[in-house]
Amino acid sequence: MGPFTYEALPARVIFGAGTLARLGEEVEALGCRRALVLSTPEQRGMAEALAARLGPLSAGVFAEAAMHTPVEVTARAMEALRATGADCTVALGGGSTTGLGKAIALRTDLPQIAIPTTYAGSEATPILGETEGGRKTTQRTLKVLPEVILYDVDLTLSLPPALSATSGMNAIAHSVEALYARDGNPVTAALAEQGIAALARALPRIVADPGDREARSDALFGAWACGVCLGTVGMSLHHKLCHTLGGSFDLPHAQTHTVVLPHAAAFNAPAAPEAMACVARALGAPEAATGLFDLAASLGAPLSLRELGMPEDGLDRAADLATANPYWNPRPVERPAIRALLDDAWHGRRPA
Ligand code: NAD
Repeated sequence: MGPFTYEALPARVIFGAGTLARLGEEVEALGCRRALVLSTPEQRGMAEALAARLGPLSAGVFAEAAMHTPVEVTARAMEALRATGADCTVALGGGSTTGLGKAIALRTDLPQIAIPTTYAGSEATPILGETEGGRKTTQRTLKVLPEVILYDVDLTLSLPPALSATSGMNAIAHSVEALYARDGNPVTAALAEQGIAALARALPRIVADPGDREARSDALFGAWACGVCLGTVGMSLHHKLCHTLGGSFDLPHAQTHTVVLPHAAAFNAPAAPEAMACVARALGAPEAATGLFDLAASLGAPLSLRELGMPEDGLDRAADLATANPYWNPRPVERPAIRALLDDAWHGRRPA
């Protein structure tokens, strides 16, 4: 075992089926009396049912959460918070809703309970990305880390198979990059391998039968494990590329991760053989990059940037943006190779 530094993040995690029933006692355990329930417009019904269940502990629902945490939405949520006298937030949803809860915590220091319904993993990280005037900036501060994560497998049963597949691949991406992170460590590596294995096992079953509770439970556990990896160690090329593509070309988050991941893995493979062997083992595949591609293909997930609406004439600009500011990656990031990687991802070629 080589030397390492490991910094654990504080979190209380409740995992299971039917755990939503424990929300009231968790609000009270935080010393709170009025929780503002957050959601996207699409999940308003779920949020209202949750608020009704909370009864007097609910301060109401704010159902305007949106992708990439626009500051205008946060400003409206802050008004709702003041108007209702809420003393904590409950974020019910995917990364977009969790992001809104974090943005409120950044501004108020109010406690948060995250109730994740996708596999994005944001609930386990001290990272917040916010968008203002079309520009996304990301910061890392413990102020935004939710105090409590309540995982209820039942809430994920409604996640459509296509989104389950891409959201699961998004989670796997956190673990792949954690395995070759510069600040990697054995605890994170163990979680990363478990997380990938759980998701690789579960996702095909979920696509075949979205109501498969055992598979849903494995996938949600995998999402937590992968989220912890994202929160604990630094990410590199893959996340940088997805951030660039999502921010500059308005591509959908989880789908972009799904398309780019096999190509980022293929790019880094020569410089990170041990990490790739671990990914392959977790996938039960002979090799990591092709294993990731084949998993996405078997799930019927998108495989090319072209199908996500990326213009081919944007690839040069994407390569410029992704190589403009230096950052650490196991293999040096040079523009010609990144341009070639993007070309492969745009066409959806299986890595060689
Ligand atoms: P999302 O939260 O935008 O959800 C996608 C859609 O699915 C929404 O309409 C949502 O309401 C719906 N949905 C979610 N769960 C559902 C369920 N169980 N049943 C039915 N519908 C459901 O998507 P996401 O991929 O979870 O999150 C993406 C966002 O999260 C991006 O903005 C990304 O930058 C951010 N993110 C941040 C971090 C971090 O650590 N800061 C990590 C991962 C993702």
